[in-house]
Parts: sequence; structure tokens; C-alpha cells
Amino acid sequence: MASVLIALGGNVGDVRATFRKAIAHICGMAQAAMIARSSDYSTPPWGDEDQDPFVNACVEIETGLDPHALLFVMQKVEQKFGRTRNKDRQWGPRTLDLDMIAYDDVSFQKPDLTLPHPRLFERAFVLVPLAEIAPDRVIAGIRVRDGLASVSTQGIERLRDTG
Ligand code: ADP
Ligand code: MG
Repeated sequence: MASVLIALGGNVGDVRATFRKAIAHICGMAQAAMIARSSDYSTPPWGDEDQDPFVNACVEIETGLDPHALLFVMQKVEQKFGRTRNKDRQWGPRTLDLDMIAYDDVSFQKPDLTLPHPRLFERAFVLVPLAEIAPDRVIAGIRVRDGLASVSTQGIERLRDTG
């Protein structure tokens, strides 16, 4: 079994409800066990700033699927929740974005999948929820809590549990 960290993001629709359903679908389709789930966070829009705030979260799962099979599952789940890719606004509004942050200590760069995720340490909206569930995990030689300490977390707010 592999330990996998997945980051979730979205800013269209009831994102927190989408997360709950998406996580259940990933675990079902990947025959994965959920090991940890962060809180949800409200985060300022990034990339293309002319859009609504995002909700972000991270989960740790354990799965027997290999990285590409898991990516396939994640893309199926993105599609199910209506993510449409818009070439003009690469980082524009989306209902659900699923990024594979790390898969055990696997490291490779392929056209469709890079592990660990190459932009992880630039993204406070990933590091804040990630540090909640895996502060001592070392990814690409950097401890998550140290990565978090070197970015600005301005505007990121933990959302209250919905129960
Ligand atoms: P971003 O995740 O930076 O917001 P996109 O979600 O639009 O950008 O990028 C999706 C593309 O990134 C997919 O086509 C996928 O094949 C590729 N990709 C490469 N590495 C990863 C990864 N670790 N996790 C998820 N997608 C990845
Ligand atoms: Mg993505």
C-alpha cells in the first residue's frame, strides 16, 4: 500500500459538499483507506486573480493503485464534478481540482504526471492544509512545516467544521 497526499481545490458551487463527495468517490474507486483529512480553508484566488476565493483541503489516503492508475481515478472524479478545462484561463474558476502532491517517496517527471507535485512549495493554499495533516512529512527534501514557514499565508482562513 502506498501513502498518498492529495490536494483539493475549487471555487465554483458548493465546494465543501463537492469535496465530501469527491473524497468518497476517490476512496471507493481507488479502494483506498482515508488516513487523514485536513480542515477546509478559504484561500485568496491565485494565478488569475479576478475570480472568487477558493476552498482548499488535503487528504492522506492509502491505496494499492499505482500513481498513473490513481491519477486516472482523480481525473474521472474531476470530470464527474463538472470540471471543465478552459484554455484561456488556465488557473481560472473550477469546481474541483485534484492534485497528487506525493506518492510515497516516488519521484519522476512524465508528460502527464510529475511527483512530487512541482508547484507544491510555491502554494500556501496547499501547504496550510498539508501541514495540518502531515507537518513532518519530508517531500523533495523539504519538511512540510518548513515549507509552510517560508510562504505567506495572508488571507487564508480555516473554515468552521460543518459537522
Ligand atoms: P494545476 O494543478 O497546476 O492547477 P491543472 O490541474 O490544470 O493545473 O493541471 C492538470 C494537468 O497536470 C493534468 O493534465 C495532469 O496530467 C498534470 N499533472 C502533472 N503532475 C500532476 C500531479 N502530481 N497531480 C495532478 N496532475 C498532474
Ligand atoms: Mg490540478
